[in-house]
Amino acid sequence: MRVAVVGAGPAGCAAAVELCRLGAEVVLLSNSGEGVGEQMPPEARPLLQQLGLLPLDGHVDCVGLRTAWRTDTLSEQSFVFRPFGNGWLLDRRLFGEQMRQRAVDAGAVLRQPVRLLSVACPRDWRLRIEGAEIACDWIIDASGRYAAVARRLGIRRHRFDRQFAVVGWLQTEADDVDATLTVEGDSGGWWYTGRLPRRRRVAALVTADRLDLKGWEKRLRSTRHVAPLLEHYHCCSPLVVRPADSSMLERSAGSGWIAIGDAAASYDPIASRGLVAALQSGIAAAALIGASSERLAAYHADLEQRFRGYLEERTRLYFS
Ligand SMILES: Cc1cc2nc3c(=O)[nH]c(=O)nc-3n(C[C@H](O)[C@H](O)[C@H](O)COP(=O)(O)OP(=O)(O)OC[C@H]3O[C@@H](n4cnc5c(N)ncnc54)[C@H](O)[C@@H]3O)c2cc1C
Repeated sequence: MRVAVVGAGPAGCAAAVELCRLGAEVVLLSNSGEGVGEQMPPEARPLLQQLGLLPLDGHVDCVGLRTAWRTDTLSEQSFVFRPFGNGWLLDRRLFGEQMRQRAVDAGAVLRQPVRLLSVACPRDWRLRIEGAEIACDWIIDASGRYAAVARRLGIRRHRFDRQFAVVGWLQTEADDVDATLTVEGDSGGWWYTGRLPRRRRVAALVTADRLDLKGWEKRLRSTRHVAPLLEHYHCCSPLVVRPADSSMLERSAGSGWIAIGDAAASYDPIASRGLVAALQSGIAAAALIGASSERLAAYHADLEQRFRGYLEERTRLYFS
């Protein structure tokens, strides 16, 4: 079976590794976009183990979460009591390289950087990229929230909010030994910050408000817990805006194609579940290549059911 995986983030790489293990011929298309620096929860450990990605070196061990949500005080949740131990604060560029290398070691052919131009299905699938055409039996859409394949197939996406994240990366010369992810609510959204390797930190405001650098800095200064953690840091790159909405495809699989990870369903970062969901759905999709329409429908129904449960949790968190 020839499978083209569009997008080489966590979902696409997980699918590629697992497909190679199952004997498929895999081409992995990457346009080299990366995440921002996230917290990989401890629950990811068995999935990373299955994919051959442990030990995961070069990241910061995350020992827990510190949260101030509608309260002035921080509450701490240590991972010591979790069955899988610590999580990770990811250097996302390095993690991307590690995952893609693992996919290549497993046998996938990596094409990068490539831009998908069109998708057509005369008999088998044809993917047109700059200067080449790729024929395959199945396509996996792992292209993140943009869902580059599903969009081209005319599949609609249901959006449940218009949130985005305004993300800054900061650098310090001072020592910082914090190994937690800190989350703090503010009047129109919430902040998170985590330490990254090489004396850096990521700080992001997740909000539906439009704001510029000055507005971001002003809101940052008014935080009680995040600002002190950044006291000895300075901004080392321009702010970046990333979508952070909750959204889901109205159909996440069909004849010869499956959408996985954020392409299928994307979560508010407050849930810290996007990375685990991406790895899980990548592994699950590999086993669905060649599956009947009933099994593909069951895949979508399962995703939809989980997504509904997540939306209820999210409503409770923000509005109760
Ligand atoms: C600000 C923010 C903070 C977050 N924090 C957390 C967190 O702490 N914990 C957590 O678990 N999750 C977090 N998430 C969510 C998490 O980042 C995603 O759920 C996860 O990255 C999804 O993986 P993916 O492989 O599905 O998609 P992505 O990581 O988006 O990867 C998709 C890849 O496909 C590529 N691509 C796109 N279009 C094409 C194309 N046409 N051709 C080829 N390649 C293409 C992209 O460039 C990218 O490399 C956060 C998200 C945001 C925005």
